[in-house]
Formats: sequence, structure tokens, C-alpha cells
Amino acid sequence: MTTPTEGPTEGPTESRTESRTESHCPYCSLQCGMRLVGVRTLEVQPWEEFPVNEGGLCRKGWTAASLLKHRERLTMPLVRKDGELQPATWDEALDLIAERITALQAEHGPDAIAIFGGGGLTNEKAYSLGKFARVALRTAQIDYNGRWCMSSAASAGTRAFGVDRGLPFPLADVERTDVLVLVGSNIAETAPPAARHLTRVRENGGHVVVIDPRRTATADKADTFVQPVPGTDLALALGLLHLVIANGHVDEDYVANRTTGFEEVRRSVAAWWPERVERVTGVPTHELQELARLLGTSQKVMILTARGAEQHATGSDTVLAWINLALALGMPGKEYAGYGCLTGQGNGQGGREHGQKADQLPGYRMIDDPAAREHVAGVWGVSPDSIPGKGRSAYELLMALGTEAGPKAMLVFGSNIIVSAPNVDRVAEHLEALDLLVVCDFVLSETAARADVVLPVTQWAEETGTMTNLEGRVILRQQAIRPPQGVRSDLDVIADLAERVSSPVKFETDPETVFAELGRASAGGKADYSGITYDRIRDEMGVFWGSPRMFADSFATPDGRARCHVVDHRGAAEQPDEDYPVHLTTGRVLAQYQSGAQTRRVRELTDDGIFVELHPMLAGRVGAVDGEAVTVTTRRGSLTAPARVVATIRPDTVFVPFHWVGANRLTNDALDPASRMPEFKVCAASVSA
Ligand code: SF4
Repeated sequence: MTTPTEGPTEGPTESRTESRTESHCPYCSLQCGMRLVGVRTLEVQPWEEFPVNEGGLCRKGWTAASLLKHRERLTMPLVRKDGELQPATWDEALDLIAERITALQAEHGPDAIAIFGGGGLTNEKAYSLGKFARVALRTAQIDYNGRWCMSSAASAGTRAFGVDRGLPFPLADVERTDVLVLVGSNIAETAPPAARHLTRVRENGGHVVVIDPRRTATADKADTFVQPVPGTDLALALGLLHLVIANGHVDEDYVANRTTGFEEVRRSVAAWWPERVERVTGVPTHELQELARLLGTSQKVMILTARGAEQHATGSDTVLAWINLALALGMPGKEYAGYGCLTGQGNGQGGREHGQKADQLPGYRMIDDPAAREHVAGVWGVSPDSIPGKGRSAYELLMALGTEAGPKAMLVFGSNIIVSAPNVDRVAEHLEALDLLVVCDFVLSETAARADVVLPVTQWAEETGTMTNLEGRVILRQQAIRPPQGVRSDLDVIADLAERVSSPVKFETDPETVFAELGRASAGGKADYSGITYDRIRDEMGVFWGSPRMFADSFATPDGRARCHVVDHRGAAEQPDEDYPVHLTTGRVLAQYQSGAQTRRVRELTDDGIFVELHPMLAGRVGAVDGEAVTVTTRRGSLTAPARVVATIRPDTVFVPFHWVGANRLTNDALDPASRMPEFKVCAASVSA
């Protein structure tokens, strides 16, 4: 059996006497560097030398250490007895899980067990989890919450460029572009230290364009703000490309030498003249023409998409449309220009590269590729035939739980499904139908509260591991404090369970050893970590996988050319009608992070609870008063919360933040056909006072 992690590791940037550890924030994909100072309790201090944030942190980062000693911290496993979660020993809890897994697999086969991972897990945990599913459990049923985050951009990036890396250039390149276009990104609130680049673009004489149905804090920093109807970013991109072509601003040499498929795309956008685009998107033709001219006459244009453009049933096609525009302008691969995706979760990038996705093996290898299976099987010490095939995507996996043909048990690592899944009341019914639900978490999250077994695990500063930030920079979170007694790391839990279910191979628990194995498993893959070591990461303040600036000479396709894809506007899966006359969109607020399991427990962070943002015209029509309750209803459920009446949102749209239980009762589970991303960002709703 493995033992709980003991004490901080030693490293060149840390000494026990100074008790100063260079590490990174536990939250978003910037992975801001921070110094953690102290022995029994930690204080967060700036780490100015780390280039991504240069010492700056947002309020979430500054207050992150307060969670380590939180009074709601779980320090003993909990097992449900007589309907109540009750304290148990680790042996009791792990024996129970292993016995139930063994019995369920004997009765229903290996796929009776599902694994649900998270985009906040370290690379080492994501890798071990994928291996645990395929080798120890032999189940194909593994996916993770990153499917709901960046999968549309991942799918589009792979199809267009042959590789998926959030930003194919360092974040700091942003400030040296001429025109920065942010499509569906509110970085001023979601990643505030990155917003300094917007200011610097403007100081350098550049131009910032923000496209969003809400005038956000990011839009306030823009030179041009475009406010389309939710779910119409794709039509907007088609319309802009139409005008770029009509204005003669296509970089024809680039298109001829570095792309394929552009002629079909050129023909396909002929039907997207400005008046038609205005009718679909609500963006006036003169704004379209001004923006197209700006893009077509600038030397360096950088287009960045985020969840606002991507979390749609047409998310992949939307990203492809913006990539087509960037390619027509000749930008990808050019210095300080191109296309990128601003990833969301802390390890949104690495989490999808090393095997917790239903269709992938480590190194961004595809699980149905015989050569990939053979390579990874060799590293794992198993036969390629023993590795299961492709499993269900995240939402489809949840919908299969407890059904005749679906898994009967699920183990959840690093995810709070009951807050973050779409159409969540339906998801909750499936969780209820399981024979066994196991949740690893550090507090009793809304999902853990429904589990049969809860395992208390370490938090970021209590363990060491790597993350890959939005630029593809692999960084090292170093352990800075001992975990509370009774708490174990996810790597320990995985290794211990593997042993108890008689895994054919042993699982390592030392993060550096796991990382070295991950490097071997990823060697030769698209995301190849084989040359990266903990020492290099420390010495170089993070190491990019691949080149820091990709695509300068060629793309990662067989012929080195980028692919243009014909895509067309289909609109949101649910359009407003008589019963549900407005658009509902969801998103984040500054003081909270994702499902809020962490940030809602930090006293210093504002927690005003869920609210409904709506325009004064809409408020007047339905009789809503600022601060008083309004009810938002969709075909899936309803929610009552205080109204926030603001002129910054479109009059045909309401906004609800998703950090609290409620928003995702309303959201639509229509899936993107390519990425299997649910349509979180738009559905039809009604509002009443
Ligand atoms: S939440 Fe994101 S932006 Fe804020 S400090 Fe942490 S990593 Fe940086």
C-alpha cells in the first residue's frame, strides 16, 4: 500500500529555512507564478520574474492559500451508511470501492466502471488516470470536464493546423500585434493579469476589438466593441471574410503557398453579404465594413477565441470560420499574429494531452491509431490489444450512467458535475441511478455530497506536479506545505486502488517519476513532453512543448499546409419563440472560479450569489426591478434570483453566472457534432418578475 505524502520536497528554488517556494496559482489557465511563504500557514507573495504574470495576480490568486486550512476541509474518507455519509478509514473506503468495482465488472464487464476527470488535475494525475482506466480497470469509459471547456477549439485547431495548442505563441506576443480581436472572451474578469496586454496593445498604437453580447470589463478596454446576438459568431466571421475578399484584402500568396481548400471557402462565403449578416447577427453593416477594412489593411492581426464563441453546438465550425478569416489574411505563423484559443481551466491544455479524454492516449495520440496503441502499450508494459477503444464523450457518458448498457459505477476526480454539467437535473437523475459513486475532493462539493464514498485529497500547495498553461508552457507547482493528516494525493488513491483491483502493472506515486513516464509515453506524439524535466522547468521558468512560436514555416499537417474548411451558419439549437422569447447566456464573474467549490469558500472573495442580468428595456417589459427576484425558465428548468438591471447587455438576452447551482439547470445539452461540446452559451428562455 502507498502512504500519504509527507512534507515539502526540496528543490533549488526552495529551502526549508526560508520556507519560500516558487509555485503557481491553483485556478485558471494563466497559471500565474507566485511565491508561497511560511511553514504552517502560507502567505502568497508576488514572483515578479515569472514572465506570464510578472508578479501580478487577481484576487482569486492572492487569496488562494486560505483554502488550505479551511474549516470545511475533509480529512477522513466518508462512506454512506444508512443513507448518511459517515467517517471511515482509508482501508475501509478503498476496500469497499475495490470490492464493488470487482463485483460490478464481473457481472457487467469492464465498461461497468466510468472515470470522470478534470481539467484542473496535474499532468501527472491526468496521465495516471487515463492509464488507470485503460490498464487497471480496462474500461473505455473515461472522459473529463475539459470536454465542456476547450474541446471545440481543440477539434478545430487539429482540423485546420494538424495540432491543438491553445496559443501557438507566447502570451506576451499579444501586445505586439496591430489588431487584437477577442471573440467571446472576458479576460479582464476571468484572467485579469492578462488584461495588461490589452492596455499595452493600445499603448503601442494597436487596436483592440472585443466581440461579445455583453459589454464586459474587457469590452471597456476595447477600441471597437461589437455586440452580436448570442450564437451568431460564426455568421459574423463569414460576413467579415466575405468583405475581406470583396475588398481585395486576401493575402493571395499566403493562401496559395500555405493553405488548401480556400477556393471552396471563397465561394461559400459569397452568400454572406453585409445586410444578410446584419439580419442574423444584429451587427450593423457599417460596423462590419469598418471592422473588415481594419482587418484587411493591418499588417498583424491576432484573433483569439474563448468560451463565448466555442461553447455552442456549432462551436467547432465557429472556430474554423475564424481560422479561415485568419488564414485569408495570411496571419497564422506570422510574427505577433495568427489565431489562438484562450484556454480556461488551470490545466485545460495538459489535461487534454495525456489520456483522460475518451479518444486519446498520452502525447495527444489517438486511441484508434494502431501505432499509438503499440507505443503506449510498450511504455505501460501491457499488450496493445488489452487497451480498450474509444469511449463516450463527457455528456454522453453521464447520460449513459445507470442505464442498461451504461456504467454502473463512476469515480470522479477534480470535477463538480452537479454545478458544471449542462441540463444538470437530468444528469443528477443518472448519478442517482448508479450503484456506486466515488468522489475525490478536498471539501464536500455538491457532487461529493451525493456520493457513496468521498475520498479527501490534497490541494495544490500540498503536492508537486506540472500543469500546462494556455501557451503550452509546462510549469511546476511545487509542494510548499504538509497536507493535513488523513489526506492523500490523487496519485496515491489511483495507485492504491490499482493494486486492490489487481492491476497487471504497478502505478507510481512520486510525481517526478510519473512525469518521466509520461514523457516516455508522449515521446513522438503531437504533444511530446519527452525532453522536459522538473529541473529544466525550474531553471527555465517553464518549458514549452514544441516550439514556443509554432507554424512559422509549416503547419503540423502531412503536407505542411493549413486546411481551410467550408462551414456555414446554422444558428443556436434553440431559437427564441413565443414561449421562450429571449436568449439566455451564461458565464463567469471576477471573484469566482468555475463550479465555485473552491472560491465560494474563500471569505475574502465576494459571493453575492447567483443573479440574472437583463437590460432595462427587457426589465421594463416584464416588470423586473433591480435587486428583486426574477424567474428565468427554459425547456429544462427554472431559476429564481435577484435581477441586475444593466444597459450593457443586449435587450434580447439575459445572463446568469454559472458558479452556483442553478444556471446549468437551464442550459441546453445540444452537442457539437465534432467536439461533443454542449451548448452552454445560448438557449431560449422566458423571464418573469
Ligand atoms: S485565477 Fe488565473 S488570473 Fe487569477 S491569479 Fe490565478 S492564474 Fe492568475
